[in-house]
Amino acid sequence: MRIAVTGAAGFLGSHLVDRLLAEGHEVIGVDSLITGQIENLKHVESNRLFRFVKSDVTQYIHIPGPLDRVYHFASPASPLDFPRYPVHILKVGALGTLNALGLAKAKGARMLQASTSEVYGDPQVHPQVESYWGHVNPIGERSMYDEAKRFAEALTMSYHRQNQVDTRIVRIFNTYGPRMRLDDGRVLPNFFRSALRNEPVTIYGDGSQTRSFCYVDDLLRGIMLLMESNLDEPTNIGNPEEITVLEFAKEIIALANSKSEIVFKTLPKDDPCRRRPDITRAQTLLGWNPRVNRAEGLKRTAEDFIRRMK
Ligand code: UDP
Repeated sequence: MRIAVTGAAGFLGSHLVDRLLAEGHEVIGVDSLITGQIENLKHVESNRLFRFVKSDVTQYIHIPGPLDRVYHFASPASPLDFPRYPVHILKVGALGTLNALGLAKAKGARMLQASTSEVYGDPQVHPQVESYWGHVNPIGERSMYDEAKRFAEALTMSYHRQNQVDTRIVRIFNTYGPRMRLDDGRVLPNFFRSALRNEPVTIYGDGSQTRSFCYVDDLLRGIMLLMESNLDEPTNIGNPEEITVLEFAKEIIALANSKSEIVFKTLPKDDPCRRRPDITRAQTLLGWNPRVNRAEGLKRTAEDFIRRMK
């Protein structure tokens, strides 16, 4: 197939490009490089099945020739990006998704929208099942991301219903693995960086908030299954193994053989208290299950962090 990936230089986008190329597809990677890193694509530069287009999806997306699939992954996504690029994040979710859907419509391609567990906000239903509508502060410190992704889902379903565009929506839960930006600001890079330098590991709040971390290979295998399925309603993909942020900090300190102490800082506003995907839908309809447990996934991730921090 001929496949476009927006956000191709990002953490998830670049791993997706690798997997699609490995399956023998021709891949056109699009990225503005605002938060994506071109180094993530260095190893595929000379692959004749790959082409990179530096372009911002909030502008018209030019891709000559036919297309079979559009994976729309472009968007800043770390909480550290939220105060840096609030307006841009809203534009990417709205105009970027509009352009990605327009591209898919023009080419007769199937489009997959990379959505997020953030559409559930600070959830009052646990674990989060796809039928839950969420608990989102529309003007809060995460609202530019949450509402952009919610709008993007609405737009995707509208193109599907009005324009008969073949669409898929994946709700991605916390994911980790090699190639995460060292200065990404998310919990795992922060903890690893501090632990490997024997500097204090900073927990926001008392660390009782929970997350459920999925290894990148598991996530992308699920997303590619979803793309090739007939499920046009949103589908959670994530690892349901839940852990408190405090326990997570201890795990990483132990893994890094670190002398770091744990320090506590104020919890950012609207930081979700609990997060765990209900993955019954993906299990039963896609036959998907995560395979890499946290111990194994963290080991693989630690090797990459150690190599890049040298
Ligand atoms: N967190 C933390 N210390 C850090 C970074 C994050 O305690 O250095 C907490 C954060 O407040 C949140 C959880 O870890 O409760 C996960 O944060 P992350 O930024 O990875 O993403 P989120 O799941 O909140 O979108």
